[in-house]
Amino acid sequence: TDIFLPERKNSQGWDLACADHLDRIEAARAPFRDARFEAGPLLAVDPAPDAAASVKNPADPGDTVGEVRAASAEDAKVALDAAETWDATPEERARMLNAAADLYEENFGQIFAILAREGGKTLRDGVAELREAVDFLRYYAARIADLDAAPLGRVTCISPWNFPLAIFTGQVAAALAAGNAVLAKPAEQTPLIAHLATTLLHEAGVPRGALQLLPGGGEVGAALTSDARVDGVAFTGSTATARKIKQAMAEHCAPGAPLIAETGGLNAMIVDSTALPEQAVRDIVQSSFQSAGQRCSALRCLYVQEDIAEDFLEMLTGAMDEFRLEDPWHLASDSGPLIDGAAHEQIASYVTKAREAGRVIHEAQAPGTGHFLAPTLIRVSSIADLEREVFGPVLHVATYKARDIDRVIDAINATGYGLTFGLHTRIDDRVQHVTDRIEAGNLYVNRNQIGAIVGSQPFGGEGLSGTGPKAGGPFYLPRFAQARESERPE
Ligand code: GLU
Repeated sequence: TDIFLPERKNSQGWDLACADHLDRIEAARAPFRDARFEAGPLLAVDPAPDAAASVKNPADPGDTVGEVRAASAEDAKVALDAAETWDATPEERARMLNAAADLYEENFGQIFAILAREGGKTLRDGVAELREAVDFLRYYAARIADLDAAPLGRVTCISPWNFPLAIFTGQVAAALAAGNAVLAKPAEQTPLIAHLATTLLHEAGVPRGALQLLPGGGEVGAALTSDARVDGVAFTGSTATARKIKQAMAEHCAPGAPLIAETGGLNAMIVDSTALPEQAVRDIVQSSFQSAGQRCSALRCLYVQEDIAEDFLEMLTGAMDEFRLEDPWHLASDSGPLIDGAAHEQIASYVTKAREAGRVIHEAQAPGTGHFLAPTLIRVSSIADLEREVFGPVLHVATYKARDIDRVIDAINATGYGLTFGLHTRIDDRVQHVTDRIEAGNLYVNRNQIGAIVGSQPFGGEGLSGTGPKAGGPFYLPRFAQARESERPE
């Protein structure tokens, strides 16, 4: 079978340059501008009602988006008891995932509204995210036919707030496609969109015992990863949390239970003196500042060849000043805020320290309300100066001399991460030389380095960036299943 399944089509999505599409989107999402949403545990057995907390809009502290009732560690136990691998045939499973994809697409207005108000997503990001979620559903549905293997059993899916629909759906769809019983814990910041997604999957026919939703924090996450009944865990989030999960699984789960983790990155880009500056600047701004830099694929450290650095950085800072930070509901907004006050405080204090050390080259403007943080450029001498991933709109810049390019590559590889990498050059031999040596899961040449497309750009890293296999690629689904004895290599 072809790894890309060429006969399969990605979601058409929405064209924001088309007036008719925009009108339809505006009409469909308007009723949800002030609506209040709800999230809570969706279990096979209804849990005792618990106190609700409100979910706030990160762009506007006055906007309450909805209420969430968190699941408890006790609910996790009940859910594990009730979890059932489903008896649906592979064809039926594929049909349900495809039906869910259709329901997602039909509910675009509500989905864009929740992504904007709960997740701080611009419409452009929301459109891309809905497409990705739908693509994951249809892609894994299409791959079921190749999967001649038994489910693992009970699979816990722990997803992040930065792609609260796409990554939530990708993990759950793969686990379900392989026939597992799924226990899904969405990020604490974004339960509302996960609740809607789960409701749509149930509506599409996925039984409640096969997909249970447990919104909550670390307590419920711990309960769902440190239980002998858990047969596998899919996790996207920080490298530190992935380590904790691995430890908990080592202690409590069967030795063969896999952890499928997609974690952080310290992603670099090299821009040499032959690059087209306008194009490189545009791609850098998107890679570093779109989605407020809250993507694990985002560009964190830019290497500019010394000969062009001065002019190039002037152009880049100009573009940063043009970049519009405002309520992501507005069409003119290029990026929304950071996800919450804690994220804002942490990154703002990182920038303050850099400012005090005289390393801030440029700070653009940000609105005063909401958790917005201005795009910021910080000077470093090497990527080795970055102690950790800063998950926000902060770009570090170093310069290099042409003859030192191999040292730059070594420094990038030495971080131990290996998620995305970008290169801007017009020299073909250099493309070959650099991409042969860089250790990263996704390499992008003369373009931005975010927004991998399901089925054509499988996404995932190596080293500290994750365990593989890549999401949206042919090897993802088999990891959620166990190869039959007879199929093991001789
Ligand atoms: N797949 C996303 C991209 O290519 C990044 C996913 C993440 O941030 O976890 O931009």
